[in-house]
Amino acid sequence: MANCSPTFRDDVFGHIGLNHPDLVRAWFNDLTLADLSAGVLSVRASNGAQLKYLHEHCQPAFAEAAQAATGRLVSVAFEADENPDDPYLDGQPLAVSTSDELQLRCENTFENFVTGPCNRLAHAAATAVSVAPGEAYNPFFIHGGVGLGKSHLLQAICHHIRGENKQAKFLYISCETFINHFIESVERGAIHQFRYRYRHVDGLVIDDVQFLAERERSQEEFFHTFNALHQSQRQIILTADCSPSEIPSLEERLVSRFNSGLVALVDRPCLETRMAILRKKAKLRCVEVPEDVIRLIAGRLDTNIRDLEGALLKLDALSHAQGSPVTLELARSSLGPLPGRSVSIPIILDIVAKRFNVKVTELRGKKRFKAVTYPRHICMYLARQLTDQSLEQIGGYFGGRDHTTVLHGSRTIAKQAKADPDMQRILDQLHTEVQHAAF
Ligand code: ADP
Ligand code: MG
Repeated sequence: MANCSPTFRDDVFGHIGLNHPDLVRAWFNDLTLADLSAGVLSVRASNGAQLKYLHEHCQPAFAEAAQAATGRLVSVAFEADENPDDPYLDGQPLAVSTSDELQLRCENTFENFVTGPCNRLAHAAATAVSVAPGEAYNPFFIHGGVGLGKSHLLQAICHHIRGENKQAKFLYISCETFINHFIESVERGAIHQFRYRYRHVDGLVIDDVQFLAERERSQEEFFHTFNALHQSQRQIILTADCSPSEIPSLEERLVSRFNSGLVALVDRPCLETRMAILRKKAKLRCVEVPEDVIRLIAGRLDTNIRDLEGALLKLDALSHAQGSPVTLELARSSLGPLPGRSVSIPIILDIVAKRFNVKVTELRGKKRFKAVTYPRHICMYLARQLTDQSLEQIGGYFGGRDHTTVLHGSRTIAKQAKADPDMQRILDQLHTEVQHAAF
């Protein structure tokens, strides 16, 4: 059977797009107008799910469009090639279990996501992806350490998309689920169902793809899934605890696919962002937390937002148990005794950066302008005074500088302070501020 001419095709789809835009799906591009004879237009779908949709929703629109294009009375027959593995064509319901999909936490929305220098790019890109899935950044890859908001952003995108379009099928799963499904379907000889499931979605959202490391066959399958979705402009969103090129033994072709869209880092939040997150979480949980307590918690827990939340919950529970309000004293006892090292270098970096109006990344970077080296040396000096980190460990915070550089930096500051009372005063103030943030 010869396919209908491209002009006829354009007329039919043009008419539907214009008069029934709600019905149009991205995969309409894949439909074949197979034949027009004896007053019947045959439209061929690629799979059973498309066929079902066409039968249920599109008969009148296609007939109307075909009549407009030909000027004759035309009826429409939808068809699809037989495929025993396609559950829709089998007359069986699609054997997809939704129980493996990750549940969205209702509070993981954009509204509840606090932005700061550590996550601004990732947040902006996530917003763009949620507004125009498949168009803005595809794939979109978020990476960063544990508990820094990767899953939160992923879920915020899903919430937004589902809110805008209830029909959109965004599959949100963990990488482990993908791998387990793949292994299972190979064992059961059901790879077609597997492919059907993963390739017939509007978007695929996979958390923690670092688990693909060392998994050759899963990587191979993932590569083909990726291509199938990407070629038809369906959105792919991924997270990992490191950048694509840092995932151990990840095939080069996957690394380059992941890098082909937008790769955004969520970094550890600075003190101010941590405080803003705590305020937001306290408000969400309707807990009254005074500012000094916010500062205390944010100053103490500087690695991971999940820990911040944990501390807040514990404090809230303690305040309920004791029937007393949240105070600095209660917070101190809730947080427990300080670990051996009371002040951390990130706190010093945050405070010194703010005081000298430079960025933490500059303090930790390679620049050698005085405007940066001076506060950098102050950080080294304070780190030696206030932490029990070795010279090497301190150097590690400053782009891997060696111990002699740290020693030289802090000695320079000590010498200058001895000769200059104003400078000593600044150091004392910083000293107090750092300790205040830490305790
Ligand atoms: P990850 O996936 O990076 O390990 P999550 O997204 O699970 O981390 O975040 C851990 C917790 O911290 C979640 O409860 C999340 O809501 C919260 N969180 C992380 N980043 C932010 C942020 N910028 N604003 C508000 N909450 C955040
Ligand atoms: Mg996560």
